[in-house]
Amino acid sequence: MSRVAYVDGQYLPHHLAAVHIEDRGYQFADGVYEVMGVVGGSLLDEGPHLTRLARSLAELRIPAPMSMAALRIVMREVIRRNGVHDGIIYVQITRGVASRDHAFPKAAGPVLVVTSRRKRPADPRAVDDGVAVITIPDIRWQRCDIKSVALLPNVLGKQRAKEAGAFEAWQVDREGKVSEGTSTNAWIVTSDATVITRQADSAILNGVTRLAILDIVRREGYAFVERPFSVAEAKSAREAFLTSTVVDLLPVVTIDGDPVGNGQPGTLSGKLREYYLARAASAI
Ligand code: PLP
Repeated sequence: MSRVAYVDGQYLPHHLAAVHIEDRGYQFADGVYEVMGVVGGSLLDEGPHLTRLARSLAELRIPAPMSMAALRIVMREVIRRNGVHDGIIYVQITRGVASRDHAFPKAAGPVLVVTSRRKRPADPRAVDDGVAVITIPDIRWQRCDIKSVALLPNVLGKQRAKEAGAFEAWQVDREGKVSEGTSTNAWIVTSDATVITRQADSAILNGVTRLAILDIVRREGYAFVERPFSVAEAKSAREAFLTSTVVDLLPVVTIDGDPVGNGQPGTLSGKLREYYLARAASAI
């Protein structure tokens, strides 16, 4: 089945799908996006993702290209046309096409792009053995709560991780606290089994997976605190893990080459991953 993309009102073969060279997303990164999971043909956590999308649009004063109800229909059509059963859907909205000028254009309308692809199965080694992270300075802007397509620092950070043989880079703020990964939220479990993740302030993206894990943590009665943690605290934690729509939950076993806990994936991380996958499966 050949891939189909939705671009500004049309369903097009993926290889022909294109936006204009003066799209403000291309020229200024003036746009927002969402990545949602598709599980058994259904969208996972569609509500929270669309709520976050609406918030990102409102924060940047980009008008919605269509109602959320209409967007839900387009997303389903893209999933259907691509025959995606388990995968992801990507939704991007930019401020539109206008001759290049920094201030908002008067005439442009927002441009919506929706694509979907099958998910690569999770690398069993990443799940079973855990992953390595490195730490890097957080050089991003002060509104990381907006899911904007301006991801250059994240791109550079992920590349640094890759070149260091690590899976992810944890970005560290000026106070020496971990903000988040380049495409994941960061978590630790302390020696007294308290789950810690940074509070959802403007320094991080409030991950939909983060919210789901927090719900599970609450439901299962684990102790948790939403607060920043330092790199030293993370290195001496009992467990560490990371979360996102794309990777679900992966245990972190080394930070900058230093083992976390006994250097093996943590028990609590494993349980939370199972609860999360069961929750996703039951949402079908
Ligand atoms: N933090 C950043 C910077 C991200 O880009 C992402 C996902 O793309 C996340 C966290 C995780 O968010 P979610 O769980 O909604 O996928």
